[in-house]
Amino acid sequence: MATTAFMGIVGRLPALAHRRLLLGMILALAVAGVLAPAPAAAQGRAAPPAELKQITNDLYFFYEFAGSNAVFMVTDEGVLVIDTRTHPRHGQALLDMIRKVTDKPIKWVINTHFHGDHHFGNAPFKATGATFVAQAETARIMQHVQAKEMARRIDGFKNQNLDPSEVKLVLPDVTFDSNMTIKLGGREVRLMYLGPGQQAGDTFVAFPHARALFTPGAFGKRSMPNMAFTPSVDSWVKLLEQVSAMDVDRILPAHGDVATRADAKELAAMLADEYATVKDAVAKGLSVDDAIKTLTFPQYKDWRNYNRLAGEIRALYELIQTGKRSYLD
Ligand SMILES: [Zn+2]
Repeated sequence: MATTAFMGIVGRLPALAHRRLLLGMILALAVAGVLAPAPAAAQGRAAPPAELKQITNDLYFFYEFAGSNAVFMVTDEGVLVIDTRTHPRHGQALLDMIRKVTDKPIKWVINTHFHGDHHFGNAPFKATGATFVAQAETARIMQHVQAKEMARRIDGFKNQNLDPSEVKLVLPDVTFDSNMTIKLGGREVRLMYLGPGQQAGDTFVAFPHARALFTPGAFGKRSMPNMAFTPSVDSWVKLLEQVSAMDVDRILPAHGDVATRADAKELAAMLADEYATVKDAVAKGLSVDDAIKTLTFPQYKDWRNYNRLAGEIRALYELIQTGKRSYLD
């Protein structure tokens, strides 16, 4: 089985015949609007175009640097989807892409965390009759912060000519607390809640047959995460260390490209460093504004989202000084 070689639909291809075939597929996706230009990344660099990567014979990774990622597994019994992108139009484009690969029914949709850029595309999948699943805390917070999740995406929708009123909150049909196994087409898909990471409810999804792991907001390769939601950085660091010790070959993250366990370990070390440094500043009585001026973390200046550092320090100050997460009020 094709578990040893990483087969990107775009990328290094073994033969010219494949290249022609796959180029045809890419063009078809472009025609379908799937690869429509996304807004440039915040850093001002041009974002690479979206692409669909085939990971194994049955597992596909939709990678959009400027947006959010999704995964789908195709079996004889039907399809399982992880996350549905930022808007129903994006969700429909993902569904159209799946339909180019298989006509099997969409059986399951997993939403891995409450951020709108991972479940606002749910509606077209709801229409297919799929069963939606999420961790219980994710389901609760999805409802609680719906208005805030919409508010912080309105500008992005406007920039892409997307109608915000098309977004409908689609809640899970099934919730779980710590573990759930879905059996489909002879495969087992394992959903795990390992404790709060970037947020309560952060759900990891293992595909043992493919030796692959989907990671939620808790992980992005060399990316400085949004610190406004986590109730515990210690828990977050611990779960990333757990991930780095898992028996998997590749990580399929909610943001950023395919990664490795070593990348999870690197993020754990960065988070521990950032948290300890900010904690130390709080303990020394440094004001948050002075901390933002002096704690520049130059060792991470090449990481994604480094330009959000001031906001992250502010968010960590809130957590350390008050224990509160005002976004979740
Ligand atoms: Zn996201």
